[in-house]
Order: sequence, then C-alpha cells, then structure tokens
Amino acid sequence: MPEPNLPVDDLVACHSCDLLHEKTALGEGEKAWCSRCGSLLYRTNNNTIEISLALTIASLLLFLFAQLLPFLSIDVDGNKTTIYLISTIDTLSQLDNVLLGIAGALFLVIIPLGVLLLDLLLLSALYSNKRPLTLFARQLLLLIGRLAPWNMLEIFLLGVLVTIVKLASIAEISLHQGFWAFVALVMINLFVSTTLEPEELWQAIDKH
Ligand SMILES: [Zn+2]
Repeated sequence: MPEPNLPVDDLVACHSCDLLHEKTALGEGEKAWCSRCGSLLYRTNNNTIEISLALTIASLLLFLFAQLLPFLSIDVDGNKTTIYLISTIDTLSQLDNVLLGIAGALFLVIIPLGVLLLDLLLLSALYSNKRPLTLFARQLLLLIGRLAPWNMLEIFLLGVLVTIVKLASIAEISLHQGFWAFVALVMINLFVSTTLEPEELWQAIDKH
C-alpha cells in the first residue's frame, strides 16, 4: 500500500482492479505489475514516440492510397463498375439523403484524417522537441482522445466485408489496391490502440 500523503502524480491505479500503487522509477525495458491482480501498470519504452510517429506517417500514406486508388469492382453479367472509397460519400448523398452524405464524409474522411494529422502534429512536436508546439501537447492529446471514438474505419470495413459476402452470389467482386491499403490502415489502427498505452504519451509530455 502507498503512503497516505503521497502527491497524486506519484500514484498509479491498476486499470483492472483499481488498487493504488506508488510509482517507482523503472530501468530500460522494465515493466511494473499490479501486486493484487498481476495486470500491467506501466512500462518504460523509450521508443514510443518514434514508433508512433512512424506508424502515423504510414497510416497517412495508406489513408491517401485507400481514398484515391480503385477500391473494388463489381461485375454483374459483364457490367463492370469500379468503386473508389472517396466516391462512396457522393453515392450516399445521391441516395436522396444529404445527411447520410455528411455523416459518411465525417466518419470516413474528416475525423480519421483529422485524428491522423493531429497525431502527426503532436508526435513530431515531441520528437523534435519543438516549442511552442510542445506547450499545446496536453490539449492536443486530450482532443485526439475525444475524437478517437468517432473514428469508425473498423466498422466501415466490417460493413464492406458483409456486403462483399452478400454480393458474392450474384456478382463477381474484385478487390483492388485501395481495399488492401484500407485493410492495412485498419490493422495499424488496431495495433496502435492495443499496444500503445496513452500513459506512455502522457509520460513523454511530462518530460517536456
Ligand atoms: Zn490490479
């Protein structure tokens, strides 16, 4: 149990069982575990910023490829239509529903691209240690945290996969580069959200 009068910054609560622990300095590559349930509390990873920055740049490129390269084509009795991701927003609007078009543009383009650009700004500021950008790092990280739940690329991919399975019996579907770029983008997103702890970014910000 930690001392009762320790400052809040010196305490860390277990994500699984809420038990409070006193923070201790770790050596490189070391991890701190919960004394009650054994969950990971925090770890040192000096490469967090570099890895996150590299993945963000890769994600931005994949995002552009996914939007601009052919996504898939549908062939019904020799009638072939090639679909681009960016054109699905236009298609949604043409379904006599402007709101659907706006929602598509928000969830498929504006929010995901916005989050990636904010990530790039935050990480490159921390990486290059450039003031005054690091002064806004806290606000940037909070804003990214608020926008992240509205990033719906995974849900869109699930929708596309279900549609492909349903259409497979009546049409011939070919997947193109844009589709694979989109799959890679979603995979990187999942990797980042499951392996990089926000706690590590806060630690990096605290150092500046
Ligand atoms: Zn615990």
